[in-house]
Amino acid sequence: MEALKQKIREEGKVLSETVLKVDTFLNHQIDPKLMVEIGKEFARRFKDEGITKVVTIESSGIAPAVMTALKLEVPVVFARKHQSLTLTENLYRAEVYSFTKKVSNDIAISGDFVTAEDRVLVIDDFLANGQAALGLMEIVEQAGASLGGVGIVIEKGFQKGGDAIREQGVRLESLAIIDAMSPGQLTFRE
Ligand code: 5GP
Repeated sequence: MEALKQKIREEGKVLSETVLKVDTFLNHQIDPKLMVEIGKEFARRFKDEGITKVVTIESSGIAPAVMTALKLEVPVVFARKHQSLTLTENLYRAEVYSFTKKVSNDIAISGDFVTAEDRVLVIDDFLANGQAALGLMEIVEQAGASLGGVGIVIEKGFQKGGDAIREQGVRLESLAIIDAMSPGQLTFRE
């Protein structure tokens, strides 16, 4: 998606060989117009998959997931990373090691919102080693739902998450794939 790549080139900051900071439009401040375009693009790519629910993880997956779900006209469910007083029963859980925060989170989704009747599209902001996406896929499986695919805003193609998901035969669509980066330099896959 050219507009996204352009935005990453203009505003992204490569903090190290593996961490890209995009706080100006995705991870802290959010650019709503770009999110609408991202949602339209995911919806276009997955429109024939019979998606009934978009599933993401708090917090940075929520904006692109909502815009996608709006276009597909289905609800969004976000996995919670923290214990909630109101989310206690009928839970599906997975353990996810956070690439950026270096801690393990127990993520959870209520069985009230993802069921065996659902066909799920998993959306997230970044794909690095695949922990977040694989954790969400595990929850979809626990719920007995079917997986229509995984949509990622920015995939770092030099980390192992993309292969881990594609190897499972899952349809993975990433709107921008970075093949290499270092401070001051970014190479996108064509
Ligand atoms: P994974 O679970 O695939 O290893 O990492 C994906 C998660 O870690 C995403 O949900 C995202 O929040 C975070 N993440 C991974 N790599 C980056 C990065 O380079 N920059 C930012 N801002 N977040 C990242």
